[in-house]
Amino acid sequence: MKLSAEHLSYQIEGKEILRDISLTFPEGKRTAIIGPNGAGKSTLLRLLAGLIKPSQGKILLDGRDIQAIGRQKLAQNLAVLPQGASAPPDTTVRRLVDYGRFPYRSYFRAGNPQYDRKAVEWAMTVTQVKDFESRQVASLSGGERQRAFLAMALAQQPEILLLDEPTTYLDIAHQLEVMQIIREVNERYGMTVIMVLHDINHALQYADEAVVLANHRVVSQGRPDKVISVGLLADVFGVRAERFVNEQGRTVLSPTALVDTMKR
Ligand code: ADP
Repeated sequence: MKLSAEHLSYQIEGKEILRDISLTFPEGKRTAIIGPNGAGKSTLLRLLAGLIKPSQGKILLDGRDIQAIGRQKLAQNLAVLPQGASAPPDTTVRRLVDYGRFPYRSYFRAGNPQYDRKAVEWAMTVTQVKDFESRQVASLSGGERQRAFLAMALAQQPEILLLDEPTTYLDIAHQLEVMQIIREVNERYGMTVIMVLHDINHALQYADEAVVLANHRVVSQGRPDKVISVGLLADVFGVRAERFVNEQGRTVLSPTALVDTMKR
């Protein structure tokens, strides 16, 4: 399914957050949304997920305005893991992951227990949370917790997965673990992934496409190694950086200093 934004703007309390954004996210690919703090990345992700409504413009799923698609139907196609997601007290991992099946149940319709169970098992296996499925979410380490929430989103079996800074607060090993799970669900199961990333090098390594937000607008979109350059880091983030090509032939950018603001 194709997700796109058309002339999307968002203001809150008279303050402009996003202005006239038109974007198409490539199907079956991993897109990273990057940009400085306050650029509007989380807001864009929340708009794409239908969690908030645009002030102007629309978001289209296969050409249909998501505002016209029911909440449950939308959640069967699109799952979102917002920043700082929290679980109700006394929730076990299995229970949390099972919440991911809500789009398939309703007051009138119990869902299909066998299918639900299979989806929950699959999501727990992919994210490797089965070993601690009976533990309370509140007792988990940061890495375990993030995988459990990722499992909940995957249990929705969406075609499109939206993630807001999925590696925040994780150490480097656990960051890689999460990025690898994201890559696997994309490559093996064909899920389209759209993720806000704060780490430029993660965007270079794990995304097929980069969207750069700055000053309320999209300033660039394209292949990460074309878009994310020393020049972009200077212009958009205000940092000087050195560019390397690592042993795997990938571009790595190393920030070295703040750009002299007098010269900007
Ligand atoms: P990013 O994710 O790029 O850091 P955000 O989307 O979180 O940016 O926020 C963009 C701007 O919008 C920030 O200046 C933030 O303070 C403001 N903003 C976001 N949500 C609200 C809100 N509910 N009320 C007021 N300002 C908000």
